[in-house]
Amino acid sequence: MKLIMLGAPGAGKGTQAEILSERLSIPTISTGNIIREALKSGTEMGVRAKSYMEQGKLVPDEVVIGIIRERLAKDDCKNGFILDGFPRTIPQAEALDNMGIAIDFVIDLEVSDETIVQRMSGRRVCEACGASYHLLFKKSAVEGVCDKCSGTLVQRKDDHPDTVKERLKVYHEQTEPLKAYYEKQGKLVVVQGQNDVEDTTRLTLASIGA
Ligand code: ADP
Ligand code: ZN
Repeated sequence: MKLIMLGAPGAGKGTQAEILSERLSIPTISTGNIIREALKSGTEMGVRAKSYMEQGKLVPDEVVIGIIRERLAKDDCKNGFILDGFPRTIPQAEALDNMGIAIDFVIDLEVSDETIVQRMSGRRVCEACGASYHLLFKKSAVEGVCDKCSGTLVQRKDDHPDTVKERLKVYHEQTEPLKAYYEKQGKLVVVQGQNDVEDTTRLTLASIGA
């Protein structure tokens, strides 16, 4: 199964992607996580991406398209994958189509801007492995500590309120047009994001007949 998770920043795409990834035994590919990794290890790509990311802007298309092209060529993607955070612009979607990859479903997770701003303030991520948590909705067993790898949980710079507003603006301008793009291809399924993660997962699984 080849899936794309679409939705505003903070809609819960990443969380659903991680759950689906386990249920379906296919890897999740998060461009956000790949870029943050590159940033941490100080590669040339990481250095280029840093300022865009911290301002809540999109990293240039050619950079992320290059990342995805390389990643999808790896062996573990043979039986399918879940794209989390890619494509985010029409040129990115066109590049994916041009790679000759047949996507099965594009899951559009709908959550209001108001709810997103509330949620973002409580989001925490693992410094070490990138797993995400929430102070209210997805607590770790021990506060501030990652369940998966015992890493430290921190707030991302781009989760601060002003940056969140900029990211939502960018989403509406550049990413939301992808709904119509995939609707036209007959691949779009819409899921109304719920406050409860498991409720959202039930709806997500139903939407793809899994
Ligand atoms: P969220 O889904 O919560 O916005 P991500 O971790 O997916 O967070 O992305 C964080 C940042 O990484 C984005 O704001 C952007 O700067 C950069 N980024 C990730 N994916 C892409 C992409 N496909 N195109 C451009 N920039 C991207
Ligand atoms: Zn971790």
